[in-house]
Amino acid sequence: KLILAIETSCDETAAAVIKNGNEIVSNIVASQIESHKRFGGVVPEIASRHHVEQVTLIIEEAMNEANITFSDLAAIAVTAGPGLVGALLIGVNAAKALAFANDLPLIGVHHIAGHIYANRLITELKFPLMALVVSGGHTELVYMKEDGSFEVIGETRDDAVGEAYDKVARTLKLPYPGGPYIDRLADVGSPTINLPRAWLEQDSYDFSFSGLKSAVINTLHNASQKGIELSNEDLAASFQESVIEVLVEKSKRAAIEFEVKQFLLAGGVAANKGLRNKLTKEFEQLGIELVIPPLNLCTDNAAMIGAAAFVKLEKQHFAGYDLNGNPGLDLEKE
Ligand code: ATP
Ligand code: MG
Ligand code: FE
Repeated sequence: KLILAIETSCDETAAAVIKNGNEIVSNIVASQIESHKRFGGVVPEIASRHHVEQVTLIIEEAMNEANITFSDLAAIAVTAGPGLVGALLIGVNAAKALAFANDLPLIGVHHIAGHIYANRLITELKFPLMALVVSGGHTELVYMKEDGSFEVIGETRDDAVGEAYDKVARTLKLPYPGGPYIDRLADVGSPTINLPRAWLEQDSYDFSFSGLKSAVINTLHNASQKGIELSNEDLAASFQESVIEVLVEKSKRAAIEFEVKQFLLAGGVAANKGLRNKLTKEFEQLGIELVIPPLNLCTDNAAMIGAAAFVKLEKQHFAGYDLNGNPGLDLEKE
């Protein structure tokens, strides 16, 4: 069964053809990073305009590369939220038009369900499982009892991890998005600068990163006032160590308490080398299977949307033509 999946929730215009929810037939991503770089972040109006220009071409490319026609498809899937409303609308309307014109079922997918199901393209999922979602807009631990069931057991109370990375990077005058740059600096630096860890209440699975972000900014500011020059590498390494320590500790505790069979890493920050290494080491010791997607499936793509959509196809959980982009879509109500 083939699904054409479309993703336009933020600054990537993407389309993919996925077979049986676990096999990539084609996977096309057009990134807009170059257009947003000089603004230091994603500009919603620019994102929408690019999506309008790109979406038809990217879908055509995905279909051509898969070497199929619309009559070969079982459904058309699209990210329905969360994300930028104007950006979501472009994908949703493209999907609706194609579903209507080709008389195919339409499937709305939650973007974070997509990030989690990127792991389904790597291996079979084993339930119950826990997923750590770390992206530009989300930081949460998601418990899954079975396919298509999501329970958020903890989430960030302020900044998402990716957001904190990008803000710290901006303070260090690194290009947007700064996550990968910090990661590279951290790799050569040493975590010699004392920064806080936000553990919150003892039994809490929630996160907080705005305090850490402010601590980095204050440390830089205080040093420069005293005429001291801090090493960007050491600052990046110290920041990254603080982030990873909290993420990994809470992940381990959640995996043990919920007695999961598998632990999944998901979202753009899953591309982080330090986080991948530390999680791998710690879960090896725990004896719990850890799954981490390859880099191109961590950041936004449509293949992951096709993988998540397959669960809904099997359940015939289809959307109507009234499907709309919803920036506040709730993962637990999926
Ligand atoms: P969401 O998925 O929450 O809607 P998004 O789609 O904008 O947000 P993603 O595309 O999943 O976010 O991830 C982008 C984020 O990942 C950016 O904040 C970026 O800096 C971060 N990121 C990418 N690579 C790395 C890395 N190697 N280390 C740290 N952060 C990274
Ligand atoms: Mg993006
Ligand atoms: Fe994303």
